[in-house]
Amino acid sequence: MKRFVLTALLAAMWSTALVAAPVAPKTKPIRVLILDGESAGPYHDWKLTTAVLKKDLEEAGIFHVSVATAPRFGEDFSNFKPEFGSYQVILSNLDTPDWPSDEKAQLEQFVADGGGLVVVHAADNAFPDWPAFNLMAGVGGWRNRSEKAGPMWYFKDGKLVSDDSAGRAGSHGARLPFQVVSRSPEHPIMKGLPPVWMHAADELYATLRGPGKDMTVLATAHSDPENKGTGHDEPSMVVLKYGKGRVFHTMMGHDAAALSCVGFMTTLQRGTEWAATGKVTQKVPPDFPTAETVSYRVNIAAMDPTFGKTPAGIVFDGLADAALATMRKRADELGIGGVAVVAYFEGDTIQSWSSKMSVVGKIKDMPTADKKGNNLLAIAYAKAAEMADTLKDSGTSSRPLMTGEFGWNGGVIARGKKGFLIAAFSGGKSEDDVKVSQAGVGLLKMGL
Ligand code: ZN
Repeated sequence: MKRFVLTALLAAMWSTALVAAPVAPKTKPIRVLILDGESAGPYHDWKLTTAVLKKDLEEAGIFHVSVATAPRFGEDFSNFKPEFGSYQVILSNLDTPDWPSDEKAQLEQFVADGGGLVVVHAADNAFPDWPAFNLMAGVGGWRNRSEKAGPMWYFKDGKLVSDDSAGRAGSHGARLPFQVVSRSPEHPIMKGLPPVWMHAADELYATLRGPGKDMTVLATAHSDPENKGTGHDEPSMVVLKYGKGRVFHTMMGHDAAALSCVGFMTTLQRGTEWAATGKVTQKVPPDFPTAETVSYRVNIAAMDPTFGKTPAGIVFDGLADAALATMRKRADELGIGGVAVVAYFEGDTIQSWSSKMSVVGKIKDMPTADKKGNNLLAIAYAKAAEMADTLKDSGTSSRPLMTGEFGWNGGVIARGKKGFLIAAFSGGKSEDDVKVSQAGVGLLKMGL
């Protein structure tokens, strides 16, 4: 159920964007081979993601994309002859424990001789015990990788550091939108992209380990402890040299939702061209995401059969925690504590709502000699209740207050696609409570 809710939630979490027309190739298309055939679990639907990755590349208009589906490890490889040498770049969407040594040697030779390699998301889980693959990918996770696989790599104080403390490799929190921060703005793949952009809901990989040799980090994403993160700025895209070959490795791209993000698509297209040729000729599309707003392509997202089929109540259940976490973060920035409430109801008048509450540091202000104290939870709900009836931010209605209402600022209401989004905070000065609530409503708007 949890997986269904999350998968379904993602379908509703993007703003809409125009679909750009493919560009006609001026020169011979770049020949790409996507490798797939296996995954460690059903949470990676590799058949669907291969189709989406193929479409992602084809939208650029400069690639000719083929697919080679490998047998599962342990099955018969005698009919698997992908002829790597006919391609300029291989894109791995394959998460397998191992391969026969002949096939491994061919892939390694292809890259060492100057072929391009692109590694997407869970493909970096593959081949834990194949040293050449780990050198090519730089870092990887899961499949029993530990400190023996190499140190963890992340950004600290603006610099790449390695951390050889012990532990398992690979972790992520719930799939939420996150900001991607450029660390190599002059690299051909990154040149012209905004310094910060909002990636669609995705797994943010952390604690990846590996040799990290000849590795340049193109971008990082902050792994938020509020979402089971490390608190570090984790690599989200890297490039490496291996022999004469070039490798582009993106840690993003869990599912069709993530793969339909215009930021993901653009960096995948540019990274694949760069791995193949060493250059990037593609322009940044006009619908590239901004620092605050996700942008995705509907035609790509709709390749997932679950796209757009999620009831709003389930979407709210998935978004509420993220909205409360955002409010907590905003309250921390403002140095205030209190109680945060988010709520959602469908239609133009309230008949029922879904709501969720989080205590941010304190539930009450204690009484003093001259003040009777405040139950901040009661106040936050009173603000939400006032808004549910007036459909105006708390404290801004022109009608007289009723019993149960305080008329205090600090609650924000907005119209969503099918109903109303409410966030209320109580604990700081009115203007700060409003800022916290605006952050909560802003996040709910991403999906509702
Ligand atoms: Zn994943």
